[in-house]
Amino acid sequence: MKKLKLRTQLSAGFGTIVLIVIALVSVASNLLIKSRFEAYMESEQQRIAGELAEELATQYDPETASWNTDYIHGAGMYAVNDGYFLRVLDAERNTVWDIEEHDMACCEEMMEKIRSDMERLRSAKGSFVSHEFPLYQDQTVAGYAQIKYYSPYYANDNAFHFLYSLNMILVAIGAVSMIGAVVTGLIFARRMARPISKLIGRTRRIAEGELSPGEELSAGSAELQELSQAITDMSQALDRQEKLRQRLTGDVAHELRTPLTNIASHLEMMCEGIWEPDPQRLSGLYEEVQRISGLVEDMEKLHRIDADQLILNRTVFDIEPLIRNIVSLFENETAAKGLTVEINCGEISVCADRDRIAQAVMDLLSNAVKYTESGGHIAVRAESSGGIFRLTVSDDGIGISPEDLPHIFERFYRADKSRSRSTGGSGVGLAVAKAIIEAHGGTIFAESEPGKGSSFTFALPSE
Ligand code: ADP
Repeated sequence: MKKLKLRTQLSAGFGTIVLIVIALVSVASNLLIKSRFEAYMESEQQRIAGELAEELATQYDPETASWNTDYIHGAGMYAVNDGYFLRVLDAERNTVWDIEEHDMACCEEMMEKIRSDMERLRSAKGSFVSHEFPLYQDQTVAGYAQIKYYSPYYANDNAFHFLYSLNMILVAIGAVSMIGAVVTGLIFARRMARPISKLIGRTRRIAEGELSPGEELSAGSAELQELSQAITDMSQALDRQEKLRQRLTGDVAHELRTPLTNIASHLEMMCEGIWEPDPQRLSGLYEEVQRISGLVEDMEKLHRIDADQLILNRTVFDIEPLIRNIVSLFENETAAKGLTVEINCGEISVCADRDRIAQAVMDLLSNAVKYTESGGHIAVRAESSGGIFRLTVSDDGIGISPEDLPHIFERFYRADKSRSRSTGGSGVGLAVAKAIIEAHGGTIFAESEPGKGSSFTFALPSE
């Protein structure tokens, strides 16, 4: 299914939230206003009726025991227009004045208007209810006023217009907020989508093989910045791997070409009878074949790591004899270069894969021998404390530059390409050593200063 664009999703999301909020606010405020309004109108009707009754009470003259019917008539006719239907009784409940008797037609017309107004505006049915008020004069009841009005309340057009305007204001606020939310959503989405589109473009270019670091992304959120950094790191790692791969292809071709050319030309001379296949020439050929085998062996080592064939065969063994054995394997080289090798190791036993650890130590020692100039000094130190076994191979050889140091454990990485080639390394030894140590749950690191020497240490859990 086609996914919606971020812009559409954000705008729709913001719009929906605003719509829900406005709907809730409208419903809540309408309910509140309506109930308050109704309560107010009811109490207002009672107040007006009460005031009318108080006024009527003053229209009785106890001296003449008569009512001022002219005034009552005026007040009664006036009250009809406001929806109050008046009837005044004397103390013996004889009718003094009654609007319905006085002007029946006007009353009915007014009642009909009130009924239809309220049914139209409130869409609810009410009825006319009569309320009786005793009319006191000097603490004695002079008569009664029966005032009939529409219950629960009667509100005229003005009052309803006020309610309607309130609702219209809410609708207007809702509409403006909706537009605001959609526009804000669009702006936000634009700001978010732009760096994402750039990142998509950059990853596509990486997929097409353009591995150079792209432009820095300044906008966007912290997460996008992090993503951008991660993509940059990934493209740099890919770039490094690509360069290593290219260099390896070139190196392997070069490494193979020299011995193969030598072998071919020597064999050609021998085939044509120009050269005798004497032991010296044959051992020269053998050396070349050895160089080719060494390269193939390195490739195989790497392949074994890649194919995850690093299955460990752990045993408990003493480290000192192992170190002495390995050092003795390099006796010829160290003697030829006049190197001194110092071993500093107590009685330590380790639980690990003996052959693999031997391989790692051999790689470190062979590098120390390779990269230390004549008369140099190499030290192999082993110690165990706090459940951790540490082995350090240090030399006072040529050292490694700070730019190369972070990369030397990468496969096929060689700090000084031309010099390493002459020493026969293919940049695999340290990658293999690292894989072995990490398979044991350990760590390996190097410290070095160009011209002063290097020191390689690995640490393993010793039990
Ligand atoms: P190589 O077969 O080229 O020695 P390694 O993986 O063993 O490959 O080493 C990688 C690179 O690290 C070497 O090419 C070399 O430049 C550098 N290096 C390793 N050990 C030392 C050392 N003891 N002194 C100086 N440089 C070293």
